[in-house]
Amino acid sequence: TVTVTGLVRRFGAATALDGVSFALAEGEFAALLGPSGSGKSTLLRILAGLEGSEAGEVRIAGRSMAGVPARARNIGVVFQNYALFRHMTIFENVAFGLRVRPRAARPDRAETARRVRELLQLVQIPELERRYPDQVSGGQRQRVALARALAIEPHLLLLDEPFGALDALVRRDVRRWLRGLHDRLGLTTLLVTHDQEEAMELADRVAVMERGRVVQFDPPAALLAAPATPFVAGFIGHAA
Ligand code: ATP
Ligand code: MG
Repeated sequence: TVTVTGLVRRFGAATALDGVSFALAEGEFAALLGPSGSGKSTLLRILAGLEGSEAGEVRIAGRSMAGVPARARNIGVVFQNYALFRHMTIFENVAFGLRVRPRAARPDRAETARRVRELLQLVQIPELERRYPDQVSGGQRQRVALARALAIEPHLLLLDEPFGALDALVRRDVRRWLRGLHDRLGLTTLLVTHDQEEAMELADRVAVMERGRVVQFDPPAALLAAPATPFVAGFIGHAA
């Protein structure tokens, strides 16, 4: 379980997060929707431990994350730009994920190779291990980033617009596939998306952010049937 209470984050005079509170249940797939600038990426970075907050608390499995560095949090992160290492092959990118696992011994070469191939199999690109990120498509890079994030055996997976680079048709397939993977691996997933249809189709619950706050966090049907505020009604009503 992930519990967020009263998170506040300011950038100078701007308030990116203005008291964000919510909880994610174990095994839940949640989507985070909201207009540009509403604080979605900031929230994910704070959860991942990549930046701090002025106030509030994040607890994972009952443990406060205050002072816990990113690499000790056991959270898999995929951002829109993938952030793959360009000078490393796809094999090496995924192997990196294995090496930075918190509280796990570094695997030897044979074990590393076994695990990397297993992960590339899981994201369905086993044939690409010798290539470099520049030598594969955007969708394939996204799968590599996901394999690397899964390599740390995360209990929480944070995805920030991971399908941004994909065209609509591929997006639909990858979406279903990701949901299947989540279910099979028993992950807890929080996915940021601009795509309302995607959020509604994929998620158990959808959080809607407005100006640094989570204003509603409900199952898709409840969001449509009973929007909590006029903002949510307008935002959800104007589906893309
Ligand atoms: P988008 O959908 O466009 O990705 P977002 O919901 O992810 O938007 P954030 O990136 O979290 O929004 O930004 C929230 C607010 O905080 C915005 O007003 C943004 O300008 C501001 N902000 C975010 N990061 C910084 C930063 N490093 N320095 C200054 N302001 C920032
Ligand atoms: Mg963002």
